[in-house]
Amino acid sequence: MDHLSGEKRSWNMSRIRAADTKPEKIVRSILHRVGFRFGLHVKSLPGKPDIVLPKYKTVVFVHGCFWHCHKGCRRANVPKTNKKYWVPKLERNLERDKINKRALKKDGWRIITVWECEVKKELKVFSKLKPLFEEKKSIDIPHI
Ligand SMILES: [Zn+2]
Repeated sequence: MDHLSGEKRSWNMSRIRAADTKPEKIVRSILHRVGFRFGLHVKSLPGKPDIVLPKYKTVVFVHGCFWHCHKGCRRANVPKTNKKYWVPKLERNLERDKINKRALKKDGWRIITVWECEVKKELKVFSKLKPLFEEKKSIDIPHI
């Protein structure tokens, strides 16, 4: 293993760890608290959505900013030294996301995308999930 690839790998690993399941867990716990029932990583749907609420015909993607190219987000910066490696890789991800979301939409799914950088602000997540809460009128949104 040469020096560069080792460096690249460790950088890669740190990103993976950062994008772990944690942001997703936060979103899940909010939905849980409000009393939603949902499935996880449903393989039968395009893009294997992170959270699926069949009753509300809604899927929630919790996207890592880097892997899914969050526009204008500082976490989505491509490292200058490895641009040739990352740019095509990330572009493929972006294209795949687009295709999956288009297919879901066509099947009548409501798609909510929550970005990794947004989960720290619970209010932001609440506002993203608002259409769901509105549909679930019998449940009060907890005050925060
Ligand atoms: Zn972001």
